[in-house]
Amino acid sequence: MAKITVKDVTEAGVVGAGGAGFPSHVKLAADADTVLINAAECEPLLHKDKEVLRKYADEILQGLAAAIGLVGAEQGIIGIKEKYADVIDLLRPKLAANMEITPLADAYPAGDEFILVYDILGRVIPPGAIPLAVGAVVMNVETALNVARSAKQPVTEKFVSVAGAVAEPVTLLVPVGITLAECVAAAGGATIDDPNYIVGGVMMGYLEDNRDALVNKTTGGVIVLGDDHVAVRRRRWDWQQIVRIGRSACDQCSFCTELCPRWLLGHPIEPHRAMRSLGFNLVGEANVAGTAFCSECNLCSFVSCPEGLDPRRVCNQNKQRLAAEKKRWEDPPFNPGRPALHMENRKTPTARLMQRLALTQFNNVGPLDDTLLETRKVGIELKQHIGAPCEPAVSPGDRVAKGQVVGRRPVTNGKPALGAPVHASIDGTVTQIANGVVWIEK
Ligand code: SF4
Ligand code: SF4
Repeated sequence: MAKITVKDVTEAGVVGAGGAGFPSHVKLAADADTVLINAAECEPLLHKDKEVLRKYADEILQGLAAAIGLVGAEQGIIGIKEKYADVIDLLRPKLAANMEITPLADAYPAGDEFILVYDILGRVIPPGAIPLAVGAVVMNVETALNVARSAKQPVTEKFVSVAGAVAEPVTLLVPVGITLAECVAAAGGATIDDPNYIVGGVMMGYLEDNRDALVNKTTGGVIVLGDDHVAVRRRRWDWQQIVRIGRSACDQCSFCTELCPRWLLGHPIEPHRAMRSLGFNLVGEANVAGTAFCSECNLCSFVSCPEGLDPRRVCNQNKQRLAAEKKRWEDPPFNPGRPALHMENRKTPTARLMQRLALTQFNNVGPLDDTLLETRKVGIELKQHIGAPCEPAVSPGDRVAKGQVVGRRPVTNGKPALGAPVHASIDGTVTQIANGVVWIEK
């Protein structure tokens, strides 16, 4: 395999394929002692990472080897749930001497990189920091595949699990810029009259009412659920409703804090105190400031709270307000020497999560169909990553080929902004550039 460089990864537009879209070239230009492949995939009903790992094991291990070389790491570790024994057996004989597998419990949120780093390396990432702060680089499975391919092809395709109330749950290979509705149709369509799309995952995803919203480099899943499903109803609660019920019904039992994965890690977040602030408007109070470190895993709202309240939304609301007011957590300083508490016996088993969220009614499979889904039109978003939106590199009327750059990072004082270029995912003609999207039609 040709040697992969940071320049390859940059120009291929590789970003984190399973999260917020952090540009991979930035991570791979750093120094770390360990590269972790995050194959934990703890969101219920999603099967993408395991399926992709099984199918493209050799390339993903090449991506891991490249990442190890680029950051100067001593080791690479794949974190995958122990229940996927067949995938682990497939991988083991292929591992290089500096690679290993850590089997993980079937629990949520095993895929949160803070939890993954703790579970595998026993290191606590400080609140607000990234894994590099403790010498680790974490890559999603699909990101590692894209790194392996970066010298040959840019990121123009995406694996997306479609699950929930669809006829044939599946993991699809689709062009970036296809619509969610096309993905759902390819999974046999919705089996209910009132389909709602949750993009990402039932726990951490967001409700998308626009069926023609676009798949980008970070889209990992589309879960179809009816109006009456708790994960839909909760997301439709308005803020005043959350405040009114939270004020009157929160008995400060603190279960939300006792099971909060970030609090268990030692981070200064206590959702029950954020709930208490609803009655007093103590947004600037120190423990409420800790809401800045909420991962929005939703465990407190969907599992922990016996009253069915929504501490996650309260934390999120506080977080947004604190950010707008430029308030930061400063006191007391985080003490990385504080041991994590009871992490082992307070994990939420996936089976319990499935039951709690009434997801056992769905066919919990997602076999990979890696025949690229065909489409005549795509919309390439100019911002599919953390950082600055790209500037268009094409104009309406231009003919473009699949893989051609259609958006470049802006450059200020000779320095490209944080971000990643975006590329055409089909051959065609640029028909329009509007609202941050380059539209291409065959
Ligand atoms: S678990 Fe529910 S009732 Fe208990 S403190 Fe948290 S929000 Fe309040
Ligand atoms: S969503 Fe709740 S449980 Fe999850 S990190 Fe935030 S406060 Fe903690």
